[in-house]
Order: sequence, then structure tokens, then C-alpha cells
Amino acid sequence: MQRVPLSLNHLLERAGRLYAESEIVSRLPDKSLARHRFADFYRRARQLASALQAAGLRKGDRVATLCWNHHAHLECYFGIPAAGGVMHTLNLRLAAEEIAWIANHARDRFLVVDDILLPLYEQLRAQAPFERVIVFPFSRAAVAPGYTDYEAFLAAAPAQFEYAPHEEDDPVAMCYTSGTTGRPKGVVYSHRSTVLHTLMANQPDHWGLGAGDSVMPVTPMFHANSWGVPYGCVMIGARLVFPGPHLHPEDLLALMHAERPKFVLGVPTIWLTMLQLLESQPEKYRLPPGMRMLVGGAPVPEAMIRAYARHGAEIRHGWGMTEMSPVGTISYLKPELQDAGEDERFRRFAMAGVPVPLMDLRIVGEAGTELPWDGKQVGEVQVRGAFITGSYHEVPQDPDKFTADGWLRTGDVASLDAHGYLRITDRTKDLVKSGGEWISSVDMENLLMAHAAVLEAAVIAVPDAKWGERPLPCVVLKPGKNATAEDLCAHLAKGFAKWQLPERFEFIEAIPRTSTGKFWKVKLRERFSR
Ligand code: ADP
Repeated sequence: MQRVPLSLNHLLERAGRLYAESEIVSRLPDKSLARHRFADFYRRARQLASALQAAGLRKGDRVATLCWNHHAHLECYFGIPAAGGVMHTLNLRLAAEEIAWIANHARDRFLVVDDILLPLYEQLRAQAPFERVIVFPFSRAAVAPGYTDYEAFLAAAPAQFEYAPHEEDDPVAMCYTSGTTGRPKGVVYSHRSTVLHTLMANQPDHWGLGAGDSVMPVTPMFHANSWGVPYGCVMIGARLVFPGPHLHPEDLLALMHAERPKFVLGVPTIWLTMLQLLESQPEKYRLPPGMRMLVGGAPVPEAMIRAYARHGAEIRHGWGMTEMSPVGTISYLKPELQDAGEDERFRRFAMAGVPVPLMDLRIVGEAGTELPWDGKQVGEVQVRGAFITGSYHEVPQDPDKFTADGWLRTGDVASLDAHGYLRITDRTKDLVKSGGEWISSVDMENLLMAHAAVLEAAVIAVPDAKWGERPLPCVVLKPGKNATAEDLCAHLAKGFAKWQLPERFEFIEAIPRTSTGKFWKVKLRERFSR
């Protein structure tokens, strides 16, 4: 067989030739919609590449983006690698100092930034490494003097453009992990890893996308490449609907009704908040029919999967991490389980799912040995494969992160059953160990969120003189609903042994969110671990 390097440029070329009429819809800051065709995307991504080369970009240079989800960000996804550069997505929800630290660590040379994010950029400007700042006029206002206007930059690009020669292992993108423990760490994706991940993820049992699909990525393009979905849509010509900066449930629902995406993706917290609207004001808010939703990045409560099914949407649950490109497991129903009753189906959908191909997954116990796939024993999840990172950018290899035989230690704790379904019970750093036994915070949160009065719940470990640690549920009640600690304890007794039941609950206004929209247990521990 011929040895042709796997390449993102091939996907871009296909998109231009085969899917010129596919549409990209972007919601602008004023909530109006901009419409582009893949033909525009193809032309503009190549113009961006040509302009970057003319501006002096050298192979391997990092080009940072500080952008919401929209068509120009998609142009960066393909245009920067086409020029031989590495797209580095910066997380706009981080503090300015943290963004500056990350940009310096990555040694970013150029920056593409949304005009509406310039106030954030101004805060980090003094510490930033960028040689040139290219402003995307997202709000359609004139770009302030002193900056390069993205549109003018593209318009002035030399017409003659050649893709930068590359090997398939050359880098195309990088993304820093959120750094809940210690400094953020950079993960670098290659042409090869990205193409293989995209092929894998588009499979029918995974995302199952085709050219006729319409996809709305709510997951930020700055977080784990929006789970790789933008690459998936470009590969097969699926229509993209980008929500821009408008991520409130009302805005998302309005966009869903206007543009009718069939596949939407995002972390559970977004859908929990939307569910609250759907349930509290059914006469005003409803879902468009026939949507599939990819939900992951944090535990997905079974109660939420059931609730969305009642509203006519099918949730597909996935587990992964930035280091894994990011998809590791997806919860589709294997053929031998198709006849399972409704309860068993929902139980399966609430599991993280089945490991994807081109990746090996094992569960390792405390003694360091691999555990059987019996659905009972829990241990650390370890992975290796074609789209799993082998190291962090310019960080010495750390045995806490990689095993001696080259597997990535995910820091997640789970069991695998005989059918191959992964069930995440915790993160190592969130574990509750009481009297020498583990209590699953994820299981407890799931059961609490199945209670009719509970909107959200996060369970943390608090120190205890007698037992070492005890679980402490931090609970947000639904507006207008009541439940006492005793009520919740009685509810938990349906799924937990007596010794596991918490003796204390905290009722709070809201659960703090991380920069990627997940429950931020560190903040709860700081507040309540005393
Ligand atoms: P961070 O959460 O630190 O920003 P990532 O976005 O890479 O970093 O998230 C990876 C982590 O998110 C995983 O290691 C795991 O703990 C958690 N996670 C992702 N998907 C799921 C899921 N479906 N169920 C439970 N936890 C999940």
C-alpha cells in the first residue's frame, strides 16, 4: 500500500470540492446570524494560511486563538495547520494572568482574537508574547488602529498558496488542560492523531454523522477542540451551527428552533440548566423534535438522560479528556443488549460507554495489577493509543501521569463490565475513603439528582476524626421545592448502605463551575472541608 501521510489538508480539500454548498451558521454578538458555505470556508482558510506564511510564520510556530465558536475559528482550525503552524486554543474563561502564563509557556507567536474579547486581551497584553495580534471583527465593528484586521489580513493574502510540506506526525493543534492540580499542561495533537480520531468518532455507533446532518457544538472550540466535532463535520460535509457567545439556555433553545440542528453537544451543567427551563415553563420552552445530544466531560446523571428522553431527545454519553483528543468511550447500546428493558437501557446510557477503537483501555488496582472486566472491581483507568498523548509540552515525563510501560494514567476511577462498559465512579482527587472503604461520589450525586426537589448535587470528601473521610453532599434545590437533610438521606438509603449515608448536607445557592463549565469541587472543598 502507498504510504501517504495522514493530513488535515486533505479534509480541507475535500470540503472545498465535495461539500461546497454545506452551510456554516454563526451567531454574532448582536444575535443575528451570519451564513457561509463550505466554499467560503475553503477559500478563507487557505487565504488565512497564505497570509500567515506571508507574515513570516515558520513551520511549527504557534498561532493562538482567543475566540468563541464561529466560522472564523473554524478557519483557524484548518488554515493555521495548512500554513505549517500549530493552532493553540486559549481558554477565554481563565484569568488574564493564567492565559498569559499559558501563551508564554507555549511560546505563541501570533494571536487571533475576537473583537469582543479585546478587553480581556488588554488585561494580559503587557505579559503576552504575541508578535502580532489579528482581530476578528466578530461584532462587525471597525477594528481599532494598532491591530491587524482579520478580514484585511485575508484580503491581502498572496493568491499563490502552497500547503506547507509535512509529515503525519507533525503538530496541528495544542490545548492546555485545565490544571485543577498544579500548572496547566499542554497537549499537542498531530495530523495523524487528529485524522484517526475524526475517522473513529464519526462512526455510526459513536457520533454517527453524515453529510445530511446539522450539528451545534456548544462545547467551546477552545476546550479539547470542541471534542473534535468541527473536524468531524468538515470531513463529511455536515452543516455547522455555531452559537457564538450566547450560551444561556434561552438563547440555545431559540437557536435550536431557528436552525434545527439534529446533533448538539455540551457538558451536563448546560443541559441541567436547560432542563430546569423545560420543566418549569413547559408552555414557553420546548425542545425541537428528534435531536440527539452528545453529553460528557463530567458525569451525566441518569435522571437527566431519562428527562431528556421524555422531552424527545436522545442523549449519547461520552467520556474522555483533553489528553485523549478527547473521546475515549461512548455509551451506545451493543446488539446483545438491544432487548434489555427500559431500566437497563437507561442504566447503560448513564455509564460512560464502550472503549473506542485505536485505543487500549485497562483498569489497574491499588496493587498495580490489571483488574478483570467484572463490573465490580474499581481501579484507575489507563489508556494508550493512536490519539492519546505520550507526553506534555515541554514538561519532564512524570510517573504520576505515565506508567513505565507507556500508558496514560487518567486519574479516573472506574469499573469495566463483561460487555465492555466503563462506569466512572470518581476522579482520584475526588475520592471519598471512609473507614478504609470507598464511597462513590458520582453514584451519590446521580441518586441525589434523581430526587424531585434536587436541581444539582456535588459530593465532596470532608475529613473526619473517626472515619478518615465522610461524604458531604452540596445540594442546590429546585426553585420553589423543599427537601430536608432527612428526606435526602432517606432517598439515598435506596442505593447506599447505612454506613455510607452522609450525616451532613450543605444546601447552597449554586455549585461553582470550572472554566470548562463543570462542577468545581475544589471550591466546595475550600469552603466546606473543615
Ligand atoms: P478538565 O476537566 O480538568 O478541564 P478535561 O476536560 O480534559 O479536563 O476533562 C477530563 C476529565 O473529565 C476526565 O478525566 C474525567 O474526570 C472527567 N470526565 C469526562 N467525561 C466524563 C464522564 N462522561 N463521566 C465522568 N467524568 C468524566
